[in-house]
Order: sequence, then structure tokens, then C-alpha cells
Amino acid sequence: MTRAEIVVDLDAVRHNVRTLRELTGVAMITVVKADAYGHGMLPVARAAREAGSEWLAVATLDEVRALRAAGDTGPLLTWLTVPDEHYDDAIRADVDLTAYSVAELDEIAAAATYVGAPARVQLKVDTGLHRGGASRPHWEPFLARARAGEEAGSWTVTGIWSHFACADEPDHPANDAQQAAFDDALALAASIGLEPELRHLANSAAAILRPQARYDAVRVGLATYGLDPAPTVAHGTDLRPAMTVRAELALVKQLEAGDAVSYGHTWTAPERTTVGLVPAGYAEGVPVAGSNRLELAVDGKRRAVRGRVCMDQVLVDLGGDTPPEGSEVVLFGPPGDGRATAQDWAEACGTINYEIVTRIGGRMPRRYVGEVVGQPGGAS
Ligand SMILES: *Cc1c(COP(=O)(O)O)cnc(C)c1O
Repeated sequence: MTRAEIVVDLDAVRHNVRTLRELTGVAMITVVKADAYGHGMLPVARAAREAGSEWLAVATLDEVRALRAAGDTGPLLTWLTVPDEHYDDAIRADVDLTAYSVAELDEIAAAATYVGAPARVQLKVDTGLHRGGASRPHWEPFLARARAGEEAGSWTVTGIWSHFACADEPDHPANDAQQAAFDDALALAASIGLEPELRHLANSAAAILRPQARYDAVRVGLATYGLDPAPTVAHGTDLRPAMTVRAELALVKQLEAGDAVSYGHTWTAPERTTVGLVPAGYAEGVPVAGSNRLELAVDGKRRAVRGRVCMDQVLVDLGGDTPPEGSEVVLFGPPGDGRATAQDWAEACGTINYEIVTRIGGRMPRRYVGEVVGQPGGAS
């Protein structure tokens, strides 16, 4: 019936939020940017709030608007804007804006004047990722402008934060250096008279692996979805992958030794075998880099992808077996029953699990399972 679909387990999301909140013991900022890493922003946002996440965070103001339009009214942080951004709606909607520079603070001040209400502003300092945030030589004028704006009634400074570069490598010296720099920024802010309620530094990996970096809150994206933010480090956190990508086997056919498959004939059957046609391809986010490398499960048995991944479909080696057409194919999902995981796919393709789940989608609908908020007793 369903050609190919993404199944998202909201109970797993809730379990992960509760587990991480309990583990860290500080406020949870669940990161639902990029359509909740491919899991669907609105259902995940509701599930995270329900599981006790005090905050949500997204990157862009468009994502803010989508959340507020859907009725989310809770604490919400955003951090990626460009010059001439329209802050009015976000100020009216009590969203915490993140500023990186004096110029951005000036724009927010103008918007607050226009709206006639103070904004909520968090200050991002660059401690060594060298991406967003105020660079160290700019901290002092930046923090001073923030303090002046607070005194002028343009905003309340609600937070100060930064972001790690190497949190998934706990022994990397950049972590200590960044945390020391963050502490310097906090001390400087305090000396200027800023007393923000929320100081935060940790992403998923640091939230799990670096207790001393938890401060008042942690910004957790990937681990919310049950994926391991530090796959090479043993930490034993009980995370449940929320995403399963499944399809129905479209066709089974016999190949003779020497028959080559898919575009470019990049794989040739060394002996008589069978192959199955899986109706999902790179339009659905199955990486072409996974050609001849990915594995997936057919009827609970692990199978290898053969030949090049096509736009709409991919072939798997069934090794002479002839499972019925319509058999369940699991492209990836939680471990067990022969399934590959998003991490397996990432390793096969030379990428990271973040990219696998965030890019999966295309024409596939998402179906939600697990208790659905507002519909007691109902699985969707
Ligand atoms: C995406 C992002 C996060 C979440 O990172 P994870 O590794 O997914 O937990 C946190 N903070 C910032 C600034 C981000 O851009």
C-alpha cells in the first residue's frame, strides 16, 4: 500500500528528551531546526514540550514563524539571521533572538522601538568554532552595547551562549580552551552588569560527555532523535532512534552470472542470483554515494545495495532468495531485525548520521506512531 515512507516514533522522542533531561539535570533546549532533523518540526516540538523540554530552538525566523503559527507559545530561541531581517513578529511573539554583533543589536533595538515592546535577546560569543557569534576582540563593545540597550529598555538580555567545535571528541584540547574562553566571556559580561538567566554551551555530545559544560541549559538536537552524537565514544546513554524509513519491495528478478545492474553497470553478478527493486532513490535522500555500499533489510534480512542508486529506485542483492513482492524493506531504523541504522548509512557513505536523517524525505510521507498529544489513546 505504501510505496515508501518515514515512520517517526514520538514515544522515542519523548523517551530521549526525558532521559537527557534526567541525565543532565539542567533545563533542556530541544533543537528542532531543519524540520527537526528530518523528523517533522511540529509533531517533534509538541512531543518535546510534552516530555518536559523547557525550551525549543530553531535556526531561522521562518522556523520561528512556523512554530508560532502552529500554536507553540513556549520559550523559543533562534540564532541565524541576516542584515535587514524583520524582527517585529518574533519580538511580539516573545522569542529569544540571538545577537552576534553591535550592528545586529542596533537592528533589534530599532525593531523593539517600532513594536513598542522590549525584545528578549541572547548574546552569542565565539569561543573558537569561528562560525557565528562575536569574536573575542569584539566581546567588550558587543557586551557593552547589550548592557546599554538593556538600560534603555530595548530588551532584556536573557542568555549568553557559545557552541563547541569538537564536542564529539571529548579529549580534544579545543573543548577545554573553548570552555575557558566561555568562562572569560561570562566574567566580562558580569563585570559589565549583565546577569542573564541562561548560560549555555553544550550541544548533544557535550551534554552527554562533558558534565562541567552543562551550565544552566543544554541545546540538544541529534540525541533527541535517538542518534549517537559521539559514535566513537562509549557512553551507554539509553537513546532510541525515532526514525524508520521503510518501503515495499516492488519487484524481484533473476540475474544470470555476468548480468550487470543499474546505470553505468557498476556491479556485475558473479553468479546466478536474484535482485529486488526498492522504490526509493536519491530523490528520497538515499545517497548516490551509497551505491554498491549501503545495506538495508528485506523481510528482516540484511541485504546489500548493488549498482548505482537511481533517482527513484535502488536494487538489492537477494542472493537467490525470492521474497514475495510487497515484502517489507527497512532502509534504516533502530537496530535489530537485520536493520541498518542511520549510523551504518553514514559510515557507508562517508558522512555523518545528522546528514542522513536530515536529507531523507523527498516524496516520502511521514507517519507518526506513539501516543499523539491531544488524542488520548490514539496511535496516528
Ligand atoms: C544544531 C545546533 C545545535 C544542536 O547540535 P546537536 O549536535 O545536534 O545536539 C546546538 N547549537 C547550535 C548553535 C546548533 O547550530
